[in-house]
Amino acid sequence: MRTHQKDMSIKIQAYIFIICLSIACNKADNNSTKRTQSKTGTEKLFKNKLDFVYNSNYIAKSFDFPVGKPNAKGYYNAQKFLVNNHLGDDWNAVTGGNTDLGDPIYSIANGYVKLAKNYGGGWGNVIRIIHKMPNGKLVESLYAHCDEILVKEKQWVKKGMKIGTIGNAGGQYLAHLHFEIRSNINLPIGPGYSTVTDGYLNPTKFIKQNR
Ligand SMILES: [Zn+2]
Repeated sequence: MRTHQKDMSIKIQAYIFIICLSIACNKADNNSTKRTQSKTGTEKLFKNKLDFVYNSNYIAKSFDFPVGKPNAKGYYNAQKFLVNNHLGDDWNAVTGGNTDLGDPIYSIANGYVKLAKNYGGGWGNVIRIIHKMPNGKLVESLYAHCDEILVKEKQWVKKGMKIGTIGNAGGQYLAHLHFEIRSNINLPIGPGYSTVTDGYLNPTKFIKQNR
């Protein structure tokens, strides 16, 4: 009888041990699943376009100009795409000089703010927005030399939303908006001017084709 009780007690202890172990394993599994999930989402999505987890309420169905919304009224493109190896457009007010300092900059379409920060150098404050088009294509719009940044990284934005103001990158230039559109959303900030144009689109042409 005593031996039997001892056996039972060992068995019960063993069961308790197994139950505890399985609870612990489950917990560990859950944690590792959670870690994997947090790696996906927006971080991973810039590394692999196919993993882009994009909010379907912010599909970029059409595009407008970034100043003088929606058609750039009151502004002109002072240095067009590829002129002097320029990788974007330079938007200035027709009134000239610094008259456009502090003017509004608008998101050209619905999208996701990938980055919004001061890059220093010739760039100053830069806003970078990822847009997903109805055909699934991803493009990036980039707004540089901003006086103010009015959006935060990882924020969703609608077309025509005021995202910043025109600046001069800390007095380096007469105020203007340096504006790029990229077909490659994974490029670094870049040189602004280059003979290598892979991953860059003609912004004005692109907008006109996607109104
Ligand atoms: Zn420029």
